[in-house]
Amino acid sequence: MLLPADLPTPLTVVDDPELAAAGVELRLKRDDLAHPAVPGNKWRKLAPNLERAVADGSRALLTYGGAYSTHVRAVAAAARALGLESVGVIRGAELAGMPRNWSLAGAERDGMVLEFVERSVYREVASGRQERRPGHFVLPEGGSNAAAVRGAAVIAAELAAQLPEPGERDVVCCAVGTGGTLAGIAAGLPPGAQALGVAVLRGEGYLEREVTALHRAAYGREFANWRLVHGWHAGGYGKVPPELERFAAGFEDRHGVPVERRYVAKALSAVYGLARAGELTDRRVTLVVTGLPDPAPQA
Ligand SMILES: *Cc1c(COP(=O)(O)O)cnc(C)c1O
Repeated sequence: MLLPADLPTPLTVVDDPELAAAGVELRLKRDDLAHPAVPGNKWRKLAPNLERAVADGSRALLTYGGAYSTHVRAVAAAARALGLESVGVIRGAELAGMPRNWSLAGAERDGMVLEFVERSVYREVASGRQERRPGHFVLPEGGSNAAAVRGAAVIAAELAAQLPEPGERDVVCCAVGTGGTLAGIAAGLPPGAQALGVAVLRGEGYLEREVTALHRAAYGREFANWRLVHGWHAGGYGKVPPELERFAAGFEDRHGVPVERRYVAKALSAVYGLARAGELTDRRVTLVVTGLPDPAPQA
């Protein structure tokens, strides 16, 4: 059995003189605390898909990701809990013969069968559209499909019930990898509120098209209440330069909240940067804490 998530996730206020001076209120929506085995937004996006996989009588879950993909680990853990098989198609054929890193080792411990594909073909297969294995429920890279977007919309619906008088003043911010979480948050927001996505990779134009396509797939329409900022990826996916590391560690020290580095730290640094630039003055900002830091490296 997959344990139920602990919902709604807590909403906490961040007391920070720098933000107060900039006229910005900041809250954290602690989705990192949602579930013990399937972290953060990965649970939001997987939950409706798992329901369908089980209802369809699927025997296995199959998905795609890089060597450190949180989504891949989440799928492995969820499959194991549900008594399903799992297959992970991993970017990088050269990894097949190498010792497993902690992330892939964790997926294998949960029973996932790993298949490694050449980087040149990975992009093509990772949408899952060409996959034809009977009994396998296929999730695209990052798990972002129409059902996942509807699952992520619940974040915003919870928030609307937790915030006093939600509306025009509200900006709800999240890190963006594949766009499913941002698409869901935008779709679930109350009237007047805005969603702000912080791209964690170089994806200007591409990510906007992805979010729009996900809205069409999930709701048959587009939404105008969201935007992406592209100045905060810190060099690209997975890059954590020293200034970002210092910023994240400083926030952890001051506020006692763990800051996942590849996504959450970039979204948080965007909030501070935009606040300093006067772009969030008189706004009530909620940052969705979409996940937990990686475990400390094992010796
Ligand atoms: C996967 C992940 C994201 C990105 O979510 P998308 O829906 O792919 O945009 C954001 N934050 C964390 C912590 C993640 O693990």
